[in-house]
Amino acid sequence: MKIKYLLLLFFVNLSLIFTNAFAQDEFLLSDYKDLLGYYNSGGFDNEINDISDHYISLLQNISVTEGKSAIVFDLDETLLSNIKLYERNTEWYDTTWSNWVKGLNSFAMPTKKIYDFAKEKGFKIILITGSPDTLEEYIKENLKRNGYDGYDTLICRPPQFYTTTALEYKSHFRKLFSESGLTIEANCGDQYSDMGGGYSGIFMRIPNYIYYIK
Ligand SMILES: [Mg+2]
Repeated sequence: MKIKYLLLLFFVNLSLIFTNAFAQDEFLLSDYKDLLGYYNSGGFDNEINDISDHYISLLQNISVTEGKSAIVFDLDETLLSNIKLYERNTEWYDTTWSNWVKGLNSFAMPTKKIYDFAKEKGFKIILITGSPDTLEEYIKENLKRNGYDGYDTLICRPPQFYTTTALEYKSHFRKLFSESGLTIEANCGDQYSDMGGGYSGIFMRIPNYIYYIK
């Protein structure tokens, strides 16, 4: 009886670890299927295009100090769209995510113009993704295929942050960059957790109607 109980406890914990690590805290698309029409009709891209133009106009006013002024970008649903995955999955497990990233099917969003403008203007480009470091080679390949080159640093989630919130993980690295002498002038992401916690500069928030991450 006791062994059975312990085994049950073990599997319950195991399933919690596998479903929760890096997962979104709330999946919104399952409740709002009609949003897919908005994404697939080009309506969402138009919205992102407009907001990108607005953020570029803000960046135009910042004077860049070479080697010091930096901009931080999140990747998923900020620079790269994974809408084709969410159409098929209303649950999100680590294996689903890993297979998706390895499949190299994400595509560039209209926010690429912010990235290109920032690079052209001479900002250092720092990419911080919530995806684990075990996927780094695929993440780099995805970026390359979508024309995201010339960035200075790519941070993928290291083991010590596998179970922390995205906010803790991302702000930790921004703090390190700031302490090393960089000035983070702006931070572009689809979640508050991409930019909360300090060392962010201007918040360049991208709408995400699909999921919410702490
Ligand atoms: Mg994101």
